[in-house]
Amino acid sequence: MTMPKVHRIRLPLPFKLNHIYVHVVEGPEGFSLVDTGLDLPDSRRLLKAGLAELGIEARELKHVFLSHFHGDHWGLAHWFNELRVPLTMPRIDWNALDRWFDQPTADALSAENLAEMGAPPAIVEKSLRGIGAMRLSCPPFKPDHLVDDGDTISLSGVEFSVICTPGHSPGHCCLYQEEKKMAILGDHILPEITPHIAVDSLELLPDPLTAYRKSLERFRSIAVEENWPSHGPQILDLNRRIDELLLHHTQREDKLVTLLTDSAAPLTCYEVSQSLFDLKQLDDFAGWLAASETLAHLRSLVNDGRAFEEEECGVFRYRVERTST
Ligand SMILES: [Zn+2]
Repeated sequence: MTMPKVHRIRLPLPFKLNHIYVHVVEGPEGFSLVDTGLDLPDSRRLLKAGLAELGIEARELKHVFLSHFHGDHWGLAHWFNELRVPLTMPRIDWNALDRWFDQPTADALSAENLAEMGAPPAIVEKSLRGIGAMRLSCPPFKPDHLVDDGDTISLSGVEFSVICTPGHSPGHCCLYQEEKKMAILGDHILPEITPHIAVDSLELLPDPLTAYRKSLERFRSIAVEENWPSHGPQILDLNRRIDELLLHHTQREDKLVTLLTDSAAPLTCYEVSQSLFDLKQLDDFAGWLAASETLAHLRSLVNDGRAFEEEECGVFRYRVERTST
């Protein structure tokens, strides 16, 4: 078997996280792309330039695989529809995305979720503006194939196993190449930042943090000698990074428990996230990310019996049972 080679192309993102690496798999049948970047003029130009350095045009790609449903990973997918390059993505994430393309329904759902988190109307509006801005660089597309955990996929003649790693998104998939012990990680494990873990608006994964922890543990049993994360450099010690990510979430949860314990009254998710993050410093989109990540932590605490959730007039509040001394 011809050993595959992976090339990476760095594309800009207009966020605090200012780049994404998309990966080009070179195999016996040519080149395939994993993830696309956003549909921004610079992004498209740099992707074309990166492919040109490899001696190909975008239309010559054999296949495009999308790791998950976040826009920075598929914003240019519609362009590959136009170029008739076959597109594959995880089935679970496509089901969510297909519904997200119906903007009025998706926005109504996001507004309802934010209201349940206790976000005031002005914040709901601000968050929807942030999501709306994201939409502009992610036009709708249609995948040609959908994959599930355990499937195999051939990218330019190279066989990869699809490893579903729910957590960062409900259907997030990594690709694993057995002979070379190589993993294309998407956003499952990142070297320099903690992958964002949030409750998706459709509640496909009601407790994403617990799912994420399982997906991290699953990776310990996979022999990986070469890894390709979507943001940042390759990870030197994957198991150590898994330990760090698990510890980060444990510490964050402990901090939440302290906050809830110190509070005289039960707190909404929005109130908790205000104490954790300086929401005024965050832009519209980042503020929404902060609140949705806080909800993931609260849900995990509730599932572990360390916190309790109560609902009143459509707003959820969280408390811990005080230990009597
Ligand atoms: Zn992502």
